[in-house]
Amino acid sequence: MIRPIVKDQMFLSKPSSKADKNDMSIAQDLKDTLQANRQICVGMAANMIGAAKCIIAVALYTDVLIMFNPVIVSRKGAYTIKEGCLSLPGQREVTRYKTVTVRYQDSTFTQKTMVFSGMIAQIIQHECDHLKGILI
Ligand SMILES: [Zn+2]
Repeated sequence: MIRPIVKDQMFLSKPSSKADKNDMSIAQDLKDTLQANRQICVGMAANMIGAAKCIIAVALYTDVLIMFNPVIVSRKGAYTIKEGCLSLPGQREVTRYKTVTVRYQDSTFTQKTMVFSGMIAQIIQHECDHLKGILI
């Protein structure tokens, strides 16, 4: 189900709580909503559709990668870049890392540790900030 995008900064500034198997429908809605906004958006955190759970969706070519409870466990190669956010007007400068190692559960709730770099790493960092209530 495609849900409206939350722009309430008070709500978006609260940290999200741990996701579990009961949150599968939130993940599906997040995937649907990201796909619907695909032309203007490359990633989304669950609180952006009103569910404050630790779930993110990352656009990966024509598919969407869903991560439950992602935690960035290491970072390498800092740089600064301007980013936009569907929940906020304009663009802001942020520090990101070229390569990140992320521990998360996949859509079958299997624990994974993966290394990402480039654009995908940047999206993951932005969305993981959302889970902590951090806006760019
Ligand atoms: Zn954002």
